[in-house]
Amino acid sequence: MSLFDAPLFQDAIKQLEDAAKIMNLDPNVAERLKYPKRALQVSVPIRLDDGTVKTFIGYRVQHNLTLGPGKGGIRYHPGVDLSETAGLAMLMTFKCALVGLPYGGAKGGICVDPTQLSRQELQALTRRYATEINMIIGPHIDIPAPDIGTDGQTMAWFMDTYSQIKGYTDGAVVTGKPLEIGGSKGRAESTGKGVAFCVNFAAEKIGMTINQKTTVAIHGFGKVGIPAAYDLSAQGAKIVAVSDVSGGVYDVNGLDIAKCELWIKENKVLKGMPGTKHITNDELFALDVDVLIPAAIDGVITKENAHVVKAKIIAEGANGPLTKEAVDIVTAKGAFLIPDVLCNAGGVIVSYFEWVQGLQSFFWDLDEVNKKLHSILKDAFENVYATSKEFNCNMKSAALVAAIRRLEKAMKLRGLWP
Ligand code: GLU
Repeated sequence: MSLFDAPLFQDAIKQLEDAAKIMNLDPNVAERLKYPKRALQVSVPIRLDDGTVKTFIGYRVQHNLTLGPGKGGIRYHPGVDLSETAGLAMLMTFKCALVGLPYGGAKGGICVDPTQLSRQELQALTRRYATEINMIIGPHIDIPAPDIGTDGQTMAWFMDTYSQIKGYTDGAVVTGKPLEIGGSKGRAESTGKGVAFCVNFAAEKIGMTINQKTTVAIHGFGKVGIPAAYDLSAQGAKIVAVSDVSGGVYDVNGLDIAKCELWIKENKVLKGMPGTKHITNDELFALDVDVLIPAAIDGVITKENAHVVKAKIIAEGANGPLTKEAVDIVTAKGAFLIPDVLCNAGGVIVSYFEWVQGLQSFFWDLDEVNKKLHSILKDAFENVYATSKEFNCNMKSAALVAAIRRLEKAMKLRGLWP
């Protein structure tokens, strides 16, 4: 597989080309944005619990560092490869630029199914991976964070390994850390909270109020989907369906989110949850709901199934859950799409807060975190909305245009060296 092969990378390029056309982007800038600045592939050998050695392949890609150090998650998933990681790094460049963070875009990952490894094996994997990518990581170089298959514990092992190598504790090398070792209040829920904020901003634009009549379906009941479900149901909305890899559960009167969360904690998957109707993920996408939140993984709504989607608001909680063709189909049908680089940016925004707090060793209360998160997302949302009106394009294209506008100015100011 080459650097350019993954569907997600191809899709990111299509989005870039589409935005470039709309905004009449300087082709010299577009040319530079098509390529990641730096891509590192590493072998990650670990001793398994049975005594044998197994090697996993890991990556860290820095797409663009014009606005600051690299920023982006680390993914543990069997689908991880160099090209997909490069595509996700490109999306991080656009995400950070769009919401005005002083960061470039990066992403990392290991091709592994983390559910098949023991805690000890996962720790070995993380520490060896951190060591292998150490030369391109640092609080002012590139700052990883959690993504699919990784969490606060992964970040704690990563930070500890980095600190052991340095000889002193340096928490600012990663974000998404547990509170006890320099994490930020609100970081764990921040992506889902941001999704819920964005759903409210979108609802306002189309004259919808989030209340007892609002119905919501969430694909991916995890780190993003769960907090989004809590926030929207706290506003009165009925979460009628949630799903995971095993499929979904449905209740026309609205699910009890706390019960779903408890069930998944005890049973690992939603399947079999009593008192609910089982539906497939495809059935979930086709539900006649007001809000659909695909918050699991990329490429789940494509040109094959986009026509069945009936939701009025589609909030991209995951990175790239709708392909470019799918976005064109649903927006042409009149759905209000909140693009990933805006919709799920709450995570990296609070990551930025965590980094700032860590560098200053001065920590904020939850209220301050959430207020600042709301304000940054609201400004970004209004900017994307205004851009969509200015260029008469959908919100997805507008988000890229708004992000690339910022980036273009910065790239031109810094210039191309030599
Ligand atoms: N992995 C998350 C994302 O895709 C968070 C990245 C970060 O906090 O750096 O945006």
